[in-house]
Amino acid sequence: MNNDLRAELIQRAIRAKETSYSPYSKFRVGAAVLTGDGEIFSGCNVENASYGLAICAERNAIFQMAFAGKRKIVAVAVTSDETTFITPCGACRQVISEFAGPGTEILLITKNKKIKSVKFGKIFPAPPSLEKLKK
Ligand SMILES: [Zn+2]
Repeated sequence: MNNDLRAELIQRAIRAKETSYSPYSKFRVGAAVLTGDGEIFSGCNVENASYGLAICAERNAIFQMAFAGKRKIVAVAVTSDETTFITPCGACRQVISEFAGPGTEILLITKNKKIKSVKFGKIFPAPPSLEKLKK
């Protein structure tokens, strides 16, 4: 990923956070995914009075990507209002694994714009083998 794309991916995640609908937790999250053909899709977390119906920013972004017909993620950016790094939850890691591989870059961005890059395989080392379901 070149530096321009990386910078844009980060900016899109930060901008997405601004649209977070999180009146219950007050925990705003923004995410953006970069596809194999260089497109970026972003999303924010959206909560609901029925708490279990909330959707995370990462899945929001990924589902928009899928709706646009894209199927390959090469990088993900995630940010919040925390000064520490937050990582995708277990459900989002599973959804990321559908469209990404162990080498996919996960960029974690703090409120103060500190950035940490981790490979997806490091935070989700053993995805379930569900290839059979795709046949
Ligand atoms: Zn999540």
